[in-house]
Amino acid sequence: MKRTSEIEQVIIVGSGPAGFTAALYTARANLQPLVIEGFLWGGLLQQTTEVENYPGYPEGVMGPVMMQQLRDQAERFGTRFITDQATRIEPAAMEGECHRVWVGDDEYQARTVILAMGAEHRKLGVPGEEELGGRGVSYCATCDAAFYKDKPTIIVGGGDSAMEEAIFLAKFSSEVDVVHRRGEFRASKIMLERARSMGNINFLTPYVVEEFHAGEDGKKLEFARLRHAETNVILEQPMAGAFIAVGHEPQSEIVSDFVETDENHYVKVEGRSTRTNVPGIFAAGDLVDHTYRQAVTAAGSGCQAALDAEWFLRDNPAVPTPEALEGVGDLAEAQWAPAAG
Ligand code: NAP
Repeated sequence: MKRTSEIEQVIIVGSGPAGFTAALYTARANLQPLVIEGFLWGGLLQQTTEVENYPGYPEGVMGPVMMQQLRDQAERFGTRFITDQATRIEPAAMEGECHRVWVGDDEYQARTVILAMGAEHRKLGVPGEEELGGRGVSYCATCDAAFYKDKPTIIVGGGDSAMEEAIFLAKFSSEVDVVHRRGEFRASKIMLERARSMGNINFLTPYVVEEFHAGEDGKKLEFARLRHAETNVILEQPMAGAFIAVGHEPQSEIVSDFVETDENHYVKVEGRSTRTNVPGIFAAGDLVDHTYRQAVTAAGSGCQAALDAEWFLRDNPAVPTPEALEGVGDLAEAQWAPAAG
């Protein structure tokens, strides 16, 4: 177990657009941020192909390229990175003390923490889903649609994400079945209309996915067992690919025993700020936002979190610890002593 004696001004946990923008701003405020970025840094945009709606890229930009650029920009002003997972976070026991963040056995102390862990794709939790992940089951049509050229696929879900993915997928697949558990859709009218207007998108409702099955060789997805939600009649639907778009799960578990979250596990913040219920702990990006979930809104909230942290540090100056005061007299004397020679 290693405990760093250095007290960080700010630790940022997470490395999507929110985390890297918070790093850029706190670095430029001379706070030398430490980003715990995870192994697969860059968040969900690392799994995206072309991003066409981030301002400043008239020709569009590939998701991983954009994340590399955001990271480089934060690094240019002195951001430090730990390419590993934060495993535990503990809030300061009392005012004036530090928050503590662990990466495995290594413990870091910080006066402020910005939470930017984002959200992950929600899973259905049915048999075959995990086993056939990457072998037919996917959570990202923009990443994987091209593998299913002229083949039948399904999209599971009834929200805007499901419609967006279905429309994208329909450009590649022979047929796309939207499988949704209810007859009504959560998706906006315009998205639903757009999906309905595509000749090769069909709607299978109300159906629930019970199981994904591989073919005889056990290697690739071949069909799914769907159950009619009202009649319980089972349908064995053949497919080459199944894309799951049933929402996202904010990655708040690591802080959920001391940071307030809502019924869907999103971290709650005070008004339009990024302040959580714990003084000195801020939250930004998809971890707090289930509505907009855009790279640009996440980046904007990362900027807000950086400013909130900076103002917190300004308004709550550090109280020197007894250890820090030890030897201060000697140091002052040494500094004022006439130079030798
Ligand atoms: P969402 O609106 O929460 O929709 C999730 C869908 O998945 C719902 O239809 C839900 O069914 C279904 N679902 C959830 N859990 C399920 C389960 N275990 N099994 C089967 N189905 C399940 O999520 P989203 O579509 O990701 O959208 C999130 C937000 O982003 C929304 O505010 C949306 O408007 C926005 N968004 C906008 C755009 C756009 O405008 N271009 C694109 C994407 C997302 P029920 O309806 O039965 O609950």
